[in-house]
Amino acid sequence: MTRGELTDVVSRLGGQAFRAGQIWRWQYKDFATGWDAMSNLPAELRRKLAETLADWEHTATVVEKSGERGGTVKLLLKLADGGMIETVIIPSKERHTVCVSSQVGCAFRCAFCASGTDGLTRSLEAGEIVAQVILAAREIGGRPENVVFMGIGEPFANYDAALKAARLMNDPEGLGIGARKITFSTCGIAPGIKKFAAEPEQFELSVSLHAPEQGLREKLMPVAAGKWEIDELMGTCREYTAETNRIITFEYTLVDGVNSAPSHCDALVRILRGLKCRVNLIPLNPTAHFNGRAPSREICEAFADRLTRAGINTTLRRSKGGGVNASCGQLRATKNKLKIES
Ligand code: SAH
Repeated sequence: MTRGELTDVVSRLGGQAFRAGQIWRWQYKDFATGWDAMSNLPAELRRKLAETLADWEHTATVVEKSGERGGTVKLLLKLADGGMIETVIIPSKERHTVCVSSQVGCAFRCAFCASGTDGLTRSLEAGEIVAQVILAAREIGGRPENVVFMGIGEPFANYDAALKAARLMNDPEGLGIGARKITFSTCGIAPGIKKFAAEPEQFELSVSLHAPEQGLREKLMPVAAGKWEIDELMGTCREYTAETNRIITFEYTLVDGVNSAPSHCDALVRILRGLKCRVNLIPLNPTAHFNGRAPSREICEAFADRLTRAGINTTLRRSKGGGVNASCGQLRATKNKLKIES
């Protein structure tokens, strides 16, 4: 709920407006998960709230936590209707990035991604997205610095809820996560990119490209077939950068012998020429249903160097979270979970 929506509910329940502010602080500064914990609210109001609204405890619960000591931690969450999602906490130096899911499952079935294997069950509500950040903040012991919509699902196929969630995370009186520290990642839904360009906040945009030309792209990403073909997608990306003056990060998963040759690199340079962007190369993380592997370190580095030499700002991502099946695309791959030792 927005603060306005919460204030309305509180006043309908007979509470004074300032109670909404107290609840807001409990939720977003103290990461309280239940109404009962909000000790400065009158007992009567707490009771009525419990009858009316789901608190975080009734929105999502951590059913399993797996992790690498001092490293990536994956939370398996159960939603009120039994749906399961995953949230990943990725530490780096003093900071934390939280990777949130936007849907239960995914409709898009990218060839190498485990999230789409069983198709889409449903989209998450804004509260179910924010709950992931609250539960992660409790693990971390403070709010995370960055949030990326790179967990299960496609945020632009759940546009309104994802945006509402991002706004709630961004609220300076709440979690206060900077808009530039909140990244939406899309498989290339052009109308979503257009809409996103018009939003007033400076949220970040990543576009999963994975191939420099239509034929190969639609093999890897069936979403690219028919609708939002690569020319249209790149045109929309150019409009986005012109309208917002912001850069786009293109995600490019490197698959050995598929999209990792120097000729692919050169084709990528051609379609990105003059576009305000950076490229994030991700060596493929193996998943059960895709028969492919990451190129050798040398091939990945050569691809990165070639892009860099062509003037494109490039990063080669080191895999994190492999030990907990929490690398990109591995969410919902449930085998070999490492339980965290407590
Ligand atoms: N639906 C959004 C968010 C998906 S996950 C999107 O498509 O952008 C974030 C990134 O991880 C995407 O770029 C996705 O293509 C990539 N990814 C998925 N499976 C992967 C795998 N097995 N190895 C490496 N990257 C993968």
